[in-house]
Amino acid sequence: MREMAIAWGRKTIKFAVAKEDRNTLRITVAPDSSVMVRVPARATDAEIAERVRRRAGWIDAQQHDFSLWKPRTPPRSYISGETHKYLGRPLRLHVRESLRNAVTVTQSRLVMETLGEKSRSERADLLWRWYANKAQTHFRRRLAAQHKLFGRHLPEPPNLITRRMTSRWGSYTKRGNLVLNVELIQVSTRLLDYVIAHELAHAAYWGHGRDWQALMTTVMPDWRERKSVLEKALL
Ligand SMILES: [Zn+2]
Repeated sequence: MREMAIAWGRKTIKFAVAKEDRNTLRITVAPDSSVMVRVPARATDAEIAERVRRRAGWIDAQQHDFSLWKPRTPPRSYISGETHKYLGRPLRLHVRESLRNAVTVTQSRLVMETLGEKSRSERADLLWRWYANKAQTHFRRRLAAQHKLFGRHLPEPPNLITRRMTSRWGSYTKRGNLVLNVELIQVSTRLLDYVIAHELAHAAYWGHGRDWQALMTTVMPDWRERKSVLEKALL
């Protein structure tokens, strides 16, 4: 195996090359962003570089979408005293038995009332159902606000789908659905708006090339800063 690199825009894409008994070239991007290129034994360096350059947009998109999400959430027990976030605010969880199952938010606390004693997974469920509910309303409102900024780039508002995902913040599907991770209800509106804008910009440009970046800068001049804050966010 050998290391090679190509320049792509301002970026250098490094990749490992493995010569194999095969007829086609295959590129894979691992979750740690490393790139592996399997090539036929007869392939020359110039051919390999050319093929990788043609797929550079795709490689960059893969690397980007992996780096957008790093699970940094410590394991939770959903017991009193734990910190859980809501709209970017850290809130102290207070669990108490009551005559109903409910979650309410105060200035500094997240109060969970449970009808009788509940198991860890039941408490997790209760909180996540509440988060999902809040996400529905909040995300819809923010999508409407962000969508306006796109003007002619995106005449029709996309259909919003919220769901809990383990590997990414959001995506924009070919059918025009914007999928947002319910977990975004934990980050500030400023960061949520970045994810929404990021995905809406994909309605106009696939990948994260110059056109996509230019559009992002038009609708959200400080998107790079928000991106880096989101990447460091600890939920
Ligand atoms: Zn993207």
